[in-house]
Amino acid sequence: MKTETKCVQAGYDPKNGESRVPPIYQSTTFKYDTTEKVGDLFDLKSAGHFYARLSNPTAEIVEKKIAALEGGVGAMLTASGQSAVMIALLNICQAGDSIICGNDIYGGTYNLLSVTLKRLGITTVFVDPAEDFSKYIKDNTRAVLFESLTNPMARVLDIERAAGIAHSHGLPLIIDNTFPTPALLRPFEFGADIVVHSTSKYMDGHAVTLGGAIVDGGKFDWRNGKFPCMTTPDPSYHGLVYCDAFGEAAYITKARVQLMRDMGPSPQAMAAFLLNIGLDTLALRMERHSANALLAAQFLQNDDKVAMVNYPGLLNSPDHELAKKYLPKGQSGVVTFVMKGGKDSAVRFMDALSMIKIVVHVADARSCVLHPASATHRQLTDEQLKAAGINGGLIRLSVGIEHIDDIIADLEHALKCV
Ligand SMILES: *Cc1c(COP(=O)(O)O)cnc(C)c1O
Repeated sequence: MKTETKCVQAGYDPKNGESRVPPIYQSTTFKYDTTEKVGDLFDLKSAGHFYARLSNPTAEIVEKKIAALEGGVGAMLTASGQSAVMIALLNICQAGDSIICGNDIYGGTYNLLSVTLKRLGITTVFVDPAEDFSKYIKDNTRAVLFESLTNPMARVLDIERAAGIAHSHGLPLIIDNTFPTPALLRPFEFGADIVVHSTSKYMDGHAVTLGGAIVDGGKFDWRNGKFPCMTTPDPSYHGLVYCDAFGEAAYITKARVQLMRDMGPSPQAMAAFLLNIGLDTLALRMERHSANALLAAQFLQNDDKVAMVNYPGLLNSPDHELAKKYLPKGQSGVVTFVMKGGKDSAVRFMDALSMIKIVVHVADARSCVLHPASATHRQLTDEQLKAAGINGGLIRLSVGIEHIDDIIADLEHALKCV
């Protein structure tokens, strides 16, 4: 099936007389005939839903759809994008380990790594994804984490190159693919090993449900000596060894049966149901978001009050060549630009918009704006802001699926008010 078809058809194939739309299993628990059957589930000898912290049939349908869209061997939904990133890392990292991460990563991920994981004894080296980061890889490095298209600067990652460096050191490349979504880019095709998502963004697409997903590409060699957590017995399952028991799905199975079991940021059935409705139209929406964003970026670029526009679809973008390779179907809907007058002009422009609203969100059907330096990236020091490329005059515009004429009319009016 093609991506457009998977968006509506993958994950659920109703039997005779069953509901055409995936049902909402609003139940924390599931019934079994004998204690032995329940025991087998707890020992992972048989598969089945037994408690909604670990799995739920509605979530499972959506997990299958997302795994199919990304081309992975399995997926797990989480309660938020943050919990997806957290579990993706904790699944293979422990105290004493280190992570390589992009220095222009989403602010929430930056905080998770630089503060919270650090307190747990997991350190992070933040690097420029475009440089040769092999010099920062040490014996205790366990993962490389980058965004395929960064939030908010929309830099395009050279995934093949990053995967090459990571693999030459026996490390998995974890890609946060939130901004392109698999409708525009499938990182496994370029060598990524694990994909994470904040489904709160384009996948849900309507700003109604928080969620996250982890997808396992199934190809990474966890037996290379660096990942005893995958190759030695887990005492919490009577000595089960994930790589032996689950083969190519070892990583995603461990994420669920060990970390989701123990930490519990599980998705609600209703959230999975709503996410699934969003996914039905994902491919269509990403086409429109991309087309509108390119036109909006071109419009902004021609205004004298705008100092600079970042959008990888623009011919003069430093990432245009990478965009041609990795995002040929469209470069998603996020455009960032810098007002010549700095923070004051940015604020005046934003306050003068009418249809386009100021919200702490990005990547949904309705056009919206945010001032990163005073919101998502507020916790960063001036030095960290500089490293992440965030300037006081910077505005993040999330271009929606409205008619482009209405979007441009609102931008034009607000620019006149600056
Ligand atoms: C929003 C976002 C996250 C965090 O996801 P939540 O669903 O808000 O927890 C992680 N990565 C990226 C790229 C994001 O845009």
